[in-house]
Formats: sequence, C-alpha cells, structure tokens
Amino acid sequence: MHSVSDWMTCHECDALHEVIELPVNGKAECSQCGSELYRQVNHSLDKVLVFSLTALLLFVLSHLFPFLSMKMGERIEENVLVSATLELLNQGFPELAVLVFLTSILFPFLVIAGLLYVVLPLIFDRHFESTFTVFRWVKKLFPWSLVGVFMLGVLVAIVKLMDLATVIPGPSLFFMAGLLVTMVAAQASLDERLIWHRVSEHSRVKGDEHHPVKHGLTSCGSCHLVLHNDQYENCPRCGEKLSLRKTDSLSRTWALLFTAALLYIPANIYPIMTVTQFGRGNPDTIMSGVVHLIEAQLWGLALLVFFASIMVPVLKLLVMAYLLISIQFKSCWRPKDRTLLFRVTEVVGAWSMIDIFLIGILISLVKLDAFATIEAGPGATFFAAVVVITLFAAHSFDSRLIWDNCRTPHE
Ligand SMILES: [Zn+2]
Ligand SMILES: [Zn+2]
Repeated sequence: MHSVSDWMTCHECDALHEVIELPVNGKAECSQCGSELYRQVNHSLDKVLVFSLTALLLFVLSHLFPFLSMKMGERIEENVLVSATLELLNQGFPELAVLVFLTSILFPFLVIAGLLYVVLPLIFDRHFESTFTVFRWVKKLFPWSLVGVFMLGVLVAIVKLMDLATVIPGPSLFFMAGLLVTMVAAQASLDERLIWHRVSEHSRVKGDEHHPVKHGLTSCGSCHLVLHNDQYENCPRCGEKLSLRKTDSLSRTWALLFTAALLYIPANIYPIMTVTQFGRGNPDTIMSGVVHLIEAQLWGLALLVFFASIMVPVLKLLVMAYLLISIQFKSCWRPKDRTLLFRVTEVVGAWSMIDIFLIGILISLVKLDAFATIEAGPGATFFAAVVVITLFAAHSFDSRLIWDNCRTPHE
C-alpha cells in the first residue's frame, strides 16, 4: 500500500525521510533527532477498534456508580465522577470546574468517540469526508485528556484522607482505571499512516520522486504530508493550516512564559485550599501542603506533589526560556539533546494538574459540616492558569527552530 516513493519530514527537526516498510511491531525513528516517525502494528485498526469500544463501555460505566465513599463515624459521604466538577462550581470556581470537566471527562470522551468515528468505517474500507478532520482533532485533544493524571490525583486524595476517615473505593474508580489502560492501549496500537494513507492521491510529494527537492518543501504539522511550499494554504489531506514553522513561535512562547511566571507568584502565596476541622480552619498553600505530607510521614506522596506542583512548573519555565534563548542566539550546541529536553518538558507538563484534580476530589468528598470541610482557595485558580498557560507555551514552541540554526546552506 505504501509506495517506496513516500516521503515524510520529522515533526521535531524537519529532516526528510523516505518511508520504508517496517517489520511487524517495528518503529521508525528519526536518524537526526531520535523522535518516533511511525510504527508498524499488526492489525492496528482492529486493535484500536476493540480498545476504543471497551473504553467507551468503561467510560459509560464509570459514570453510573459511586466513585469514592468516605465514612466518618456514622456518616457516609459518597461522590460520583462528576462531583468534583459540581462542587467546584458550587464553591464559586467555575473556571476550575470547566478545566476539570474538560480534561477528565469531556476530552477523554471525545477522543474515544473520535477514534471510533475514524476507525469503524475504515475497517469496512470506507471513510467519511470528515474522517481526516476528526482524526486531526483527536490528535489535538489527546494531550489534553488527562485520565492518568486524574487517577494519580485520586490516589493522593485517598492517602491524604486516610487519617481523617475511612475511604471506600467505589466501582467507578475501577472502571476509570480500566478506561485509562484501554485508552493507553488504543493509542499504542495506532498506526497513523493507515489512516492518512486512505487518501492515496495525497500520499506523496508531487514532482520528481527520486530526487525530492530539499528546499521549498513544507510538511503538514498534523499528518506530515510533504508538499511544495506555495502549493496549498491548507493541507489537502487533513485540512490543517500549512506553514513552514509555527506562526510567531518565539514571541508567542515568550509571552506565554512571562504570563505563567507572573501567575506562579500568586499561585504560591494564596492558599489553594482550606481544611476546616472542628471549626478550625487551616489554609494550605502548595508548599505548606507538601510540608503537611512530610509531617504525616507520607514521604512518597510529599515527593510526588513536590515534583508535580513545584519542580515541574519551575523547571518547565526555566527549560523553555533556555531553549528560546539558545534559538535566539543561533546556538548549534547539541541540538539532539535540546530537542529531547523539550520533548520531556512537554510530556511532564500536564502532571502538574494533579493538585487541581486533588482539590476537586477532596472538596467533593469532605463535606461533613462541623467535623470537617475542605474548600478550594484562590491559589488553585492561579496555579491552574500556570499549568494551562505552560501547556500552551509548549504547544506554540517549534522544536524545528532548534535545528534551523544547524543546517548548512546546501542541505
Ligand atoms: Zn527528527
Ligand atoms: Zn495534513
């Protein structure tokens, strides 16, 4: 199906590669920067279909049963998956409610539904006009669907509540865990080329296929179709807007980093939540939350929260600033390592959301009036803004700029 004259460019360093057949379960990596280009999965479409259908079933089930219950004396407080969103709304934090709802419920659902919409007809060798647009959006939403981070937030919440009350996991918790596994499996089984190559007339560079012009080629940021620069405004295969590099990448990323750095200050000064026990309120900032975990000798959790809420955002801001400066000074120093640095930063960035999910879960469970209540604080909003803005900053950063300084004029 794939002709030998298929070409693709690496999405991270822009190196041009000839697409070759791989052995089963093989993976093609970029020879220049080491990022994964494509993979060969046996029965890819069937696997994605099975995992997506299972995920859809688990998604529905996870909304039908209790998620967590907390028992304190005679009282039992039960919550469902959507309780975190509702309680955030109830306590006057609509922006956090929307963020938690989107990343833990709506986006995962859209990713599963989108995959089914794309894969199901393809199994019968058909596709819709909108198949490629939908798949493009599935790819965009994947990094924002944070079921794994949410589950880690749940874990932290359970351990934190253990000395306050008995926490009983509900059936939904297990369905959600299954959902996480099947979503990861669906993504791992996906051989993207099987989908993009359905529109065969767009699967290769037009022109002399044996000697592709290395200058004046642009590649689609979404489906990696290689085209001549001035041929199209939008990708003819998937509809993504084409540009040689992300628009205003440097100035946009700088602006987002500055905003995030500024917001990081109030995020640490204001309390992210207040625990009221027997009428006494204890406001917690991000840092004092970590200190409390250390005092309770929960070293593992303290380390986890410290890493996710303090180390990751600070390191991300510093690393991104360094990368931007290195590009502006036209540095050609170890481009491969700098690309790897960016890739790692991009992946770990979303883990900072743990604290936001944790707050949502805690406030929806601990509503025991006089005994104990937990309320969200303004610091949480600032912190969520930092996480979201740094995610956008990573998104607007174009790692190919790292490599642009290292090319010889004749390459
Ligand atoms: Zn590369
Ligand atoms: Zn495209």
